[in-house]
Amino acid sequence: MRIARFTQGSDPRYALVEGEGDAAELVVISGDPIYMPVQPTGERVPLDDDGVRLLAPVIPRSKVVAVARNYVAHAEELGNEVPERPLLFLKPNTSVVGPDDPVVLPDWSDRVEHEGELAVVIGKVTKDVSPEAALACVFGFTCANDVTARDVQRAESQWARAKGFDTSCPIGPWIVPGLDTDDLEVSVRVNGDRRQHGSTAQMVFDVAYLVSYASEAFTLLPGDVILTGTPAGVGPMVHRDVVEVEVEGIGTLRNPVLRR
Ligand code: ZN
Repeated sequence: MRIARFTQGSDPRYALVEGEGDAAELVVISGDPIYMPVQPTGERVPLDDDGVRLLAPVIPRSKVVAVARNYVAHAEELGNEVPERPLLFLKPNTSVVGPDDPVVLPDWSDRVEHEGELAVVIGKVTKDVSPEAALACVFGFTCANDVTARDVQRAESQWARAKGFDTSCPIGPWIVPGLDTDDLEVSVRVNGDRRQHGSTAQMVFDVAYLVSYASEAFTLLPGDVILTGTPAGVGPMVHRDVVEVEVEGIGTLRNPVLRR
């Protein structure tokens, strides 16, 4: 099942995505599926209809919790050790944008980089959950780009600005519940050229452990998002690039890059 959030110009609505490519259709459902059972209204809308726009499949209720250096090869490419326990940081919910929304490069950075990641969407209030019980608290999974002003990240010991600026957290294109995330390919293409490639099997700490660990520090709310770290191959995003994050079993999140 794929659950999208979309607009035709007025209030956002939710839908199941059925079919592939040009034949894909939105099967409209009533209400927000994080809080209500999935119930089709009977309305169907072609995904490629004029005026249909996919939105970020969720706006995190309170926060995006992100994990640094969760793939050995990525830690090494930036000259960092793999941490003994997950290294967490926060991105504000105002950093979130959706599919095809532009990533706007801040004028205070000369080096903005892509980090393609598997994203976890929390489904219920979660506090101090064990790894064994953690997956029952997950609503589903989507793709994310943990966009990072690398020069600012290196210059400042807090990453709030480098990783939290507006448009630094594209997510989408939709949420897939119930996915087995033990071994999924994660890749990033810039203008069609593959830059990042890895598998979630290479994560130092797996999804269940990360949800558990984060819940020991923060109460996770329905709609909060956890980013699970990025594989090797991070690199620059510049004006007019198109960056695609693909996670096996989910789909492709595509965003243009702009410098205003
Ligand atoms: Zn990251």
